[in-house]
Amino acid sequence: MITDEPRVRRQRRSLSGWGRTCPSVADVVPAGSADQTIAASPAVIARGLGRSYGDAAQSAGGAVLDATSLPRVFELDESSAVLRVDAGISLEDILRRIIPLGFFVPVTPGTSRVTVGGAIASDVHGKNHHKDGSFANHVTELTLLTPTGPRRLRPDDESAPFFWATAGGMGLTGFITEATISLQRVETGLIASDTTREPDLDAVMQRLVDVDRSSGYSVAWVDGLAKGRSFGRGVVNSGDHAPLDAIQPDQRPTARRYDPGVVSLPPLPYPQPPGIAMKAFNELWYRASRPGHRVESITSFFHPLDALANWNLVYGHRGFLQWQFAVPDGNESLIAESLQRLATTDGTRPTLIVLKRFGAAGRGHLSFPIPGWTLAVDLPVNGTALRATLNDLDAKVVAAGGRLYLAKDSRVRRELIPHMYPRLDEWRSLRNELDPDGRFVSDLSRRLHLTIFDQEHVTE
Ligand SMILES: Cc1cc2nc3c(=O)[nH]c(=O)nc-3n(C[C@H](O)[C@H](O)[C@H](O)COP(=O)(O)OP(=O)(O)OC[C@H]3O[C@@H](n4cnc5c(N)ncnc54)[C@H](O)[C@@H]3O)c2cc1C
Repeated sequence: MITDEPRVRRQRRSLSGWGRTCPSVADVVPAGSADQTIAASPAVIARGLGRSYGDAAQSAGGAVLDATSLPRVFELDESSAVLRVDAGISLEDILRRIIPLGFFVPVTPGTSRVTVGGAIASDVHGKNHHKDGSFANHVTELTLLTPTGPRRLRPDDESAPFFWATAGGMGLTGFITEATISLQRVETGLIASDTTREPDLDAVMQRLVDVDRSSGYSVAWVDGLAKGRSFGRGVVNSGDHAPLDAIQPDQRPTARRYDPGVVSLPPLPYPQPPGIAMKAFNELWYRASRPGHRVESITSFFHPLDALANWNLVYGHRGFLQWQFAVPDGNESLIAESLQRLATTDGTRPTLIVLKRFGAAGRGHLSFPIPGWTLAVDLPVNGTALRATLNDLDAKVVAAGGRLYLAKDSRVRRELIPHMYPRLDEWRSLRNELDPDGRFVSDLSRRLHLTIFDQEHVTE
């Protein structure tokens, strides 16, 4: 512990994202000293629960504001289904409190261990994007601390441009301290779901298109290691919140219970999993996914990985990355091509692969979702061949009018970013109004030159 400023407690720590690929050292500062830290630090960024995969929530040599230490705020107006919370609370904590009262968050990503601030700053999407859009669509107000003072931002008044620059703005417009969110009402804390096993990629994609017409939630897991006629086979899950009358009468008294339950891996030095183990894992997952209709828990439907607290350790000390892109409809062939290329790149073993359809884009300048398809692939970091393949595929994503997800990125070439995010300069101008001296800086923003007008890097 070092205390180089009398009234601000700082703790120098090595920080990395969930993929554990690019650690850097910074002073972690409690949120209570946010005003002081923003005024005094040349480089500051917020951090929630560190579930972004790359380097978004760290700032080498700077100050990192720990949002989880914000004083807890929790005001639920049950009649209007509106919740005001501090930005450091996790969705898991919110779910524990609201499910028994008959409410659910409007959007949840694939883990509940994210903060509200992180969900807004990445404008996260869930299995209901095709129907409900991304998280910020459901935020009605937020409070942002900036170097030019605190701001109350709303999505539809004169502050809206700053609101939408902050939604998906990767923490670079300021420090979110509070947010007001519209919740959805649910009769139970259970999901009525349907699972199908599809024999190949075409069937998986057709099923996703079909279920999105009727189901609020949908997602597909794809076996990236199956070959030949089984190439791209997968499991499609769809569902909706189960109404009370879908539950057996004897289970109704506990139908609003939420208990994620969790076990932790010991912090051993794990070796990277060998290819053969991943092939066996994929085979097992495919076979173990029982087709049919069932009523299941929130955790098993939305957050199955949360059952194992630190599963990211299994990728060994070199860590892993998640490559996630979105492309408009009409570019379906890029999904097959990506899977093919990744499966045949030397030393590369795609592990978890998730495919989903996106609905309408949100209003955030840097929000990731665009209508069409999104593919997310977990890849153990392993050699230069993977880097070359991903660089090639990134260029194809851009040519298809698509983009990579900044919350997952740890490696994209910065020249591609203005093509992926065509409203980047508009966002930079708004950001500069809030933070004219450029104090909010992260390793991500430095690596990708997000906050600098640097036209010389733009390739035509
Ligand atoms: C298993 C797993 C599954 C996932 N599934 C999905 C998914 O389905 N959909 C999806 O969209 N994402 C998904 N993600 C990514 C995750 O939802 C986002 O990265 C989210 O931003 C993480 O929130 P966090 O609180 O951990 O934020 P951090 O990772 O700590 O920070 C992420 C960004 O938010 C900023 N930030 C955090 N708090 C604040 C604040 N108070 N004020 C201003 N900025 C802030 C940080 O500066 C940083 O830029 C997944 C991640 C994991 C590990």
